Amino acid sequence: MLKKVRLFTPGPTPLLPSAQLAMAAADIHHRTPEFRAIYQRVLSQLKEFIGTKNDVILLASSGTGAMEAAVSNLTSPGDRVLVLSAGKFGERWVSLAKAFGCEVDVVSVPYGQTFSIEEVRARNTPDVRVIFVQSTETSTGARHCIENIAALSRDSGALLVVDAITGLGTTHFDVDGWGIDVIIGGSQKAVMIPPGLAYCAVSDRAWQRMETSRSPRYYFDLRKERKSAAKGESAYTPAVALIAALGAALDYIAATSGGNIAQGRDALIHNAEVTAEMTRAALTAMGLKLFAPTAPASAVTAVLAPDGMDSGAIVKGFKEQFAGVLSNGQGEMKGQIFRVAHLGFFDYLDTIAMIGGLEQVLSQLRGRDLLGVGLKVAQQVYARRRGTSLAQLLEADQRCSCGRPAADCAATMATVSA
Ligand SMILES: *Cc1c(COP(=O)(O)O)cnc(C)c1O
Repeated sequence: MLKKVRLFTPGPTPLLPSAQLAMAAADIHHRTPEFRAIYQRVLSQLKEFIGTKNDVILLASSGTGAMEAAVSNLTSPGDRVLVLSAGKFGERWVSLAKAFGCEVDVVSVPYGQTFSIEEVRARNTPDVRVIFVQSTETSTGARHCIENIAALSRDSGALLVVDAITGLGTTHFDVDGWGIDVIIGGSQKAVMIPPGLAYCAVSDRAWQRMETSRSPRYYFDLRKERKSAAKGESAYTPAVALIAALGAALDYIAATSGGNIAQGRDALIHNAEVTAEMTRAALTAMGLKLFAPTAPASAVTAVLAPDGMDSGAIVKGFKEQFAGVLSNGQGEMKGQIFRVAHLGFFDYLDTIAMIGGLEQVLSQLRGRDLLGVGLKVAQQVYARRRGTSLAQLLEADQRCSCGRPAADCAATMATVSA
């Protein structure tokens, strides 16, 4: 049979056709009025997508470049910082902060879990200058409650830096209301374009901190980028084609909701929530176990391979039989889990096809008839959820802002003083 190549990976994600066309047509010079118009428009669209009044900075780098920029612009050697680490991307914060000479204190939890707010509160001593965290830990499929963590950082005066590289477009944030000082996104995730752009929104508190921070920085000097952006330019040669693609993708997101980017973003989050829920229900019904069952993200679902099976066999079978690309686990999780993404350009048919393909592969590998088992419950989830909006979805299930059931979130995140 024919096989269409399809990515189900949590970055890079499938490309939006109109963004690909915009990219191909972007044969313009960056020091021209034509480019300045595009750049300014994309920066203001990004503000609406992120949901902030703060300045947004675009960088020609992968997401890690903006993570490095957050560390180098906000810290000085010897600063005490607190990293909340629950997986490979949390560990990246630790390495980055150490590379810039910070005194790094780490709150870590086992892979697949989220933090206890009591522990975060206890470790957030008055000398902590910056807290670094992921909103969704892509390596484990867990989500963390940023609203609760933000309440702690507001009280203590520490800056809060959130790697929302797979959180933006899959998770609800009130960036300005909660006081997130730096929130970071990347192009190859929910905004449906290729790798190569990172973006971040920076608060007034963070701009002030930069006036006194002493870590070395050059290419990733955010103050330089801010000055250039005010004139509609970037400090160095921008990734012109990717910026044109991003504009087309944000136009598409707006067009899904009557031209309103914020509503389009909420529809995209709802899409991720529903496709993730379909996937979790289906794979659980097929007898598989979720790797992050207590706080599963809507960005990506991580699933344990059945006992005695290497998860690579599932990834390989799915690729060979259907040309679909799943992700294996990262680091020590390799061979134990596989990951399926829901961020960006995945729809109902993609989700149903992915579940159907996994039924075939798992039936063969396990010598059991699983056909229709996952699809049945996925169909039921879709039928129940399809008419709702994000707000209705969160309210109907009494979910916390982070998307977890409010009761579960309250249990791990107990008693936060606002
Ligand atoms: C993809 C991703 C990154 C960025 O990785 P790059 O390869 O540098 O783009 C960082 N954090 C999380 C949580 C991610 O999912």
